[in-house]
Amino acid sequence: MKLRNYVEGRWVEGAGSGVPLLHAVTGDVVAHATSEGLDFRAMLDHARRVGGPALRRMTFHQRARMLKAMAMHLNARKDEFYALSSATGATRADSWIDIDGGIGTFFVYASKGRREFPDEAFYIDGPVEPISKGGTFIGRHICVPLEGVAVFINAFNFPVWGMMEKLAPALLAGVPAIVKPATLTSYLTEQVFRAMVESAIFPEGAIQLICGSAGDLLDHLGEQDSVAFTGSAATGRSLRTRPSIVAGAVRFNMEADSLNCAILGPDAAPGTEEFDLFLKEVVREMTAKAGQKCTAIRRTIVPDAMMGDVIEALRSRLSVVKVGNPAVEGVKMGPLAGASQVREVGASLDALRGGGEVVFGGEAVEPIGVDPGTGAFFPITLLASQRPHEQLQPHEVEAFGPVNTVMPYSSVDDAIGLARLGRGSLCGSLFTNDDRVARDIVLGVAPYHGRLYVLNRSGAKESTGHGSPLPHLVHGGPGRAGGGEEMGGLRGVLHYMQRTAVQGTPTTIARITNEWVPGAAQPTDRIHPFRKHFEELQIGETLTTHRRTVTETDIVNFAAISGDHFYAHVDDIAAKASIFGRRVAHGYFVLSAAAGLFVDPAPGPVLANYGLENLRFTKPVHAGDTIQVRLTCKSRTAKETPPDGIPQGVVAWDVNVTNQDNELVATYTILTLVRRMAGEGVPEMAS
Ligand code: NAP
Repeated sequence: MKLRNYVEGRWVEGAGSGVPLLHAVTGDVVAHATSEGLDFRAMLDHARRVGGPALRRMTFHQRARMLKAMAMHLNARKDEFYALSSATGATRADSWIDIDGGIGTFFVYASKGRREFPDEAFYIDGPVEPISKGGTFIGRHICVPLEGVAVFINAFNFPVWGMMEKLAPALLAGVPAIVKPATLTSYLTEQVFRAMVESAIFPEGAIQLICGSAGDLLDHLGEQDSVAFTGSAATGRSLRTRPSIVAGAVRFNMEADSLNCAILGPDAAPGTEEFDLFLKEVVREMTAKAGQKCTAIRRTIVPDAMMGDVIEALRSRLSVVKVGNPAVEGVKMGPLAGASQVREVGASLDALRGGGEVVFGGEAVEPIGVDPGTGAFFPITLLASQRPHEQLQPHEVEAFGPVNTVMPYSSVDDAIGLARLGRGSLCGSLFTNDDRVARDIVLGVAPYHGRLYVLNRSGAKESTGHGSPLPHLVHGGPGRAGGGEEMGGLRGVLHYMQRTAVQGTPTTIARITNEWVPGAAQPTDRIHPFRKHFEELQIGETLTTHRRTVTETDIVNFAAISGDHFYAHVDDIAAKASIFGRRVAHGYFVLSAAAGLFVDPAPGPVLANYGLENLRFTKPVHAGDTIQVRLTCKSRTAKETPPDGIPQGVVAWDVNVTNQDNELVATYTILTLVRRMAGEGVPEMAS
């Protein structure tokens, strides 16, 4: 069977017979891949002309709902993907990381997209920057989707997750993508991609697929395009220096090989829970996906006094790991993805032998459930380096398979130094129940790591594993690991957007961003804002209330009602000696009294008080002071209506409480749930 490419909205067969892709266990041909004859420039044009505009017409919330729908669609078809995944040599647990991991990433981005992004097509990044004395000229950052194509070039080890962890943030940002999986396992990517296309959930042009060589695709990239590359450092380096990439300053994110480490804390001696957790993790990282994980532990750094115990314990645990055909019950580790990987890992192991002695494995393996001589199997191999500062191979050579080197450290500083010899890693882990050690090591190695995983007995049950990148957290690493960063929730979405600093008057900035900012126009209306539906409220619309004089009785009554008899409110002598100089009203009384001033009490479109943010008491309020409130509609976000629910949205109100001298005494934002007149859909802003 020849895999097809998805080009300009059609399935297209490449020319020629293609590269045969072999089953990792049986060696049978699974498919052929060829992208010969494809018009790569036309693919880019299609994404820019058709996919980009369609995605940019949607808001973040609409795109997030699209991701959720796709995640549900793929979830329902998971069994097909698992069946084919076994051809890559994956066990069921390995496939779970790839397939469920990929679908899970869509779910997380779908949820974050609705909770952390506005229901707009652009994103406001950070607060107002007050750059003028009088406040008439300000700055604010906005992020808008790039108008080009996101090109994804992936490694062979995660044919599904590798595609989906890149697609989720790009599509949420509003940028179309061209996916180019590693040819070796592209048949699985193609199967999942086919399911996506069949669903018709993404708009036309949002995604395209290349199974085979990327041809001259990268030569046609321009200023608005980006590349996210995962693979070996050598390939990454050659691609990122291509003339088109350099000339167009094309964003190039690189995730490359990495010599990740696990450190056993000095307190985590044999017999402690941390020692066992450490062994479990090292064994899991060596054997999951047969060690073909970019985050797998390659260097195991342990206190010198524990070297013998660690090696013994690892040998005994590794010796019971069943290697063989993943289809056979009880098999915990399958083959590598192909024969060329066996050769590459073998060559890397030869290089590593110069830096340590093999203490487990290293010789031919006899896999269970396979004919002798077939399958891309590699022995689980543990090396020990006694002189890790002189034998530098473990810090330099990545064997992309079930291979790991144990090495001793003499002090916490020494452990930090060894970890840093990796010159930049995706992930490092530390097993300690001593939080001082945790702090020293984390701060010592953080500049060299994209993620740090600190484990002790208290978090073990719910911990997520050294080797699992999570959509919420950044994935990537400095230096040798490529210098890139993916995912990390919202951060990953912003990689596909242009951050633009906009300067102007507060009113102009408020109109552009649809969010009121201090200093912007504050029109008033005869109708109280609490009598208005969501759609009727205007950004900036302001209510200035009547006044109220705070009395001694208010303070005494509030102390009694709340039970808050703090000396500054009720003890005249102590209050005189306090920073206030005399008794002061409770801050929460001021809040409550402010609500009493601005609410319109009768039933109406306001459904509930939803919360309060950024509260500051800026000046004390004493008995005899007269307060007044200015309530300004700051922003509005439509919410999805639950089945049988009331259509509604969240309105954020800026609240300023001032005293008789017009001095600010309290400022905060309140959130209310306000009924919408319309059903679904996001209302347009009144101009
Ligand atoms: P690779 O040989 O560097 O290939 C990576 C990707 O680059 C493949 O899709 C490959 O396509 C493509 N490629 C190669 N030459 C190209 C060119 N001239 N133009 C466009 N694309 C080109 O790496 P691999 O063997 O697939 O993966 C193993 C390596 O990836 C390991 O070193 C591992 O550490 C690293 N890795 C890193 C991460 C991470 O997140 N940091 C994750 C997984 C793997 P073809 O397959 O068609 O050649």
